[in-house]
Amino acid sequence: MLPPIASRFVAGETAPVALEHARATNDRGVGVILNLLGEHYDEREPADEDTEAYCDLLDDLARTDLRACISVKPSQLGLDVGEAVFRENLARVVERADEHGEFVWIDMEDHTTTDATLDVFAEHARETDGAVGVCVQANLRRTRKDLERLSDLPGKVRLVKGAYDPPESVGYREKSRVNESYRDCLEYMFEAFDDGVAVGSHDPAMIALAEKLHDEHGTPYEVQMLMGVREDAQTELAGDCEVWQYAPYGSKWLSYFYRRVLERKENLAFALRAVVAG
Ligand code: FAD
Repeated sequence: MLPPIASRFVAGETAPVALEHARATNDRGVGVILNLLGEHYDEREPADEDTEAYCDLLDDLARTDLRACISVKPSQLGLDVGEAVFRENLARVVERADEHGEFVWIDMEDHTTTDATLDVFAEHARETDGAVGVCVQANLRRTRKDLERLSDLPGKVRLVKGAYDPPESVGYREKSRVNESYRDCLEYMFEAFDDGVAVGSHDPAMIALAEKLHDEHGTPYEVQMLMGVREDAQTELAGDCEVWQYAPYGSKWLSYFYRRVLERKENLAFALRAVVAG
């Protein structure tokens, strides 16, 4: 069972519990992006199992009126096994979502996967007329250019700072440079993406910039944050713009939980308090 200490960042171990979390989050005015935890499979079997689990989840979602969608990781659907496996499994998920009129986000993993991810996104974006979204990372030098290609496609794009550490040759390593790139990319997106911009960040400065750019250009936007991070701000912002919470669930929660705890001292303090309080 999911220990209380992890339940701040993880919606539960099973789909029914994750759907209950989605209901409670919707009640606060916040939409939910469900992610089944799992990544970097080097065999086909677990990638196929997770693909099936996402298809079942989409069937479950279709039986509800929840404001919820899903986000998948390329390596969870088999990219490390081979690009063909990833493509086949993603096609199954997107087809099922399309049957139900649901939306599928594709997360972005390390820089070696960017081309494969954007190529397959472009195909599904055209085929579904925009019922898919993809994440791009401001800490990659190529992203500003990638956005130009993406601006011609239907579908949504989520801009994040980037959770992976790219080598200097392809990425920015200094925080200030990543922030500068995030601002540049956001400015371009509000100018060029008529259908809307997804701001994947907890950073009050980036969210304030998005508000300003929205006032200037009128481009619609949504803010996306992780479950367990600035939850009060999520509810508060939902009064002003569309807000979505990325909520992971599933039995493979341990490494995700440690990542959240180790990335910021606030999260570590929370974890220690929970341990001390028993
Ligand atoms: P940071 O630079 O980490 O923080 C900036 C400011 O935000 C801080 O100074 C503080 O004011 C506030 N803040 C941040 N964290 C906290 C906290 N825990 N508590 C309180 N305040 C806080 N990365 C990928 O590489 N690929 C993906 O597909 C991907 N998908 C994502 C989806 C969503 C919805 C989100 C929110 C993030 C995703 N990420 C992804 C992670 C992302 O790349 C960043 O690593 C992560 O969001 C941290 O960056 P930040 O923009 O929040 O700003």
